[in-house]
Amino acid sequence: MSPSKVSTIKWDEFSNIVDGKPRGGKEKHQGTNPATGEKLWDVPIANQQDVDDAVVAAQKAFEKWSQVPIEKRKELIGKLKDHFAAHSDDMTALLCQETGKPKYIAEFETKGVAGFFDHHLNLTLPEEREEDDEKVMLTRYTPLGVVGAICPWNFPIVLSLGKIIPALLTGNTIIVKPSPFTPYTTLKVVELAQDIFEPGIVQVVGGDDKLGPMLTAHPGIAKISFTGSIATGKKIMAACAPTLKRVTLELGGNDASIVLPDVDIKKTAPELVMGAFQNSGQVCVATKRIYIHEDIYDDMLKEMVEFTKTMKVGSPESGAMLGPIQNKMQFDKVTDFFKDTKANGYKFAVGADEVAQGKGFFVQPTIIDNPPNDSRIIQEEPFGPIVPTQPWSDEEEVIKRANNSLAGLGACVWGKDVERAERIGKRLQAGSVFVNSWEKPTPQAIFGGHKESGIGGEWGKEGLKAYCNVRTPLLTLLLSTIS
Ligand code: NAD
Repeated sequence: MSPSKVSTIKWDEFSNIVDGKPRGGKEKHQGTNPATGEKLWDVPIANQQDVDDAVVAAQKAFEKWSQVPIEKRKELIGKLKDHFAAHSDDMTALLCQETGKPKYIAEFETKGVAGFFDHHLNLTLPEEREEDDEKVMLTRYTPLGVVGAICPWNFPIVLSLGKIIPALLTGNTIIVKPSPFTPYTTLKVVELAQDIFEPGIVQVVGGDDKLGPMLTAHPGIAKISFTGSIATGKKIMAACAPTLKRVTLELGGNDASIVLPDVDIKKTAPELVMGAFQNSGQVCVATKRIYIHEDIYDDMLKEMVEFTKTMKVGSPESGAMLGPIQNKMQFDKVTDFFKDTKANGYKFAVGADEVAQGKGFFVQPTIIDNPPNDSRIIQEEPFGPIVPTQPWSDEEEVIKRANNSLAGLGACVWGKDVERAERIGKRLQAGSVFVNSWEKPTPQAIFGGHKESGIGGEWGKEGLKAYCNVRTPLLTLLLSTIS
């Protein structure tokens, strides 16, 4: 393999990467540093020609890459892991600027990505064999072709590499589209990859709202792996139908957390709060509704309020625990939940009843005490640091309440009686259920949503199959003998 060389990395210059080469564009846009409201660097806006060229390069590269033995593919992916690790401090700094997250959360992402590499590097594609008197039946998994990866802004590195790694390992080529809000780290990840892989194997095109539909409509793309909102997921599925692309949809959630009466209140309260406010609530599996048994409701809420008051909100360099909302559009959406809560007279247990409008998009973590079931804050995903609590008394009823959502991504159950917690967990309609922990997705477990939270899943042992066709050679024993 003779990899293409882009250049020595410059951390303040950004291009798309098409066919192994940096590509600019006539039109440019910029991300915004959400902690300061200041514009960041120029990035090119890819157009239809760029997408067409990327697809041609990816199809050409696929012919050879799909024939490279899996062990060799793993070796190169391992090199990307090391190459990324050698640049992880620069990546952390860039991630802090484009997302505004505190350094410890950015590092969790830039260092944590090694776990995603390691997990996948330990996997292999299964080959299953069954035999009867007449025939041998094999089940093999083969790559699909060109994958389009459409990514959100909340964890730009993990969520793009979480698609790049399994796509490449299974022998596909991939074109990544970062969110227009956070293009910078993804452009650099793919730039680094050019030092390892031949042109066309991993490419990146960033741009504006017109770009995603160019990928979903393109007949040369075999699969779209999408992570983002439910509303966009529906559009993507519809747009992929005319070309019958495979789709994996990792979408939004409205995760319920059910707290049993026997928990240790002092220990559990900070964990519940962290589940809701991790990364300022901008996590698909952040806890979005908390159901606390009525016997401990007041005491638990009091402890949660006390812990929430200790959470400092600020810029990455301020040493804060929570950063800003990543972009103005999302900030306005979160602000609307505050307006709705105030207008309806629901009770703020902690947090200001309106969001201060400043240069950075900061929102104080806020708990709403027992709003009604039909309130927006119970029904919808705010994707910000505002969470409702409600009391419960009857197990059957609270399970129904938790499941009364079109979303089904994650859920938590907390209790000393682990058997009871597990029993409840089994009945929750969600792809990932956590007992005595807030939602912590791991590359070892397949991740996917029930109901409107998605279609299919990635990661875990099964996740590789999302990047494969299944092929079943049937060998008739009457005419040939095989071993
Ligand atoms: P979004 O749906 O607005 O955008 C996601 C991506 O889709 C972006 O790259 C965007 O440019 C692109 N896009 C938008 N319209 C498109 C179209 N018509 N065709 C093709 N692409 C299009 O989501 P977001 O605001 O970036 O992310 C937040 C949402 O993502 C939340 O709902 C969150 O729960 C969800 N999310 C889910 C997971 C998961 O794994 N299930 C993980 C992270 C975030």
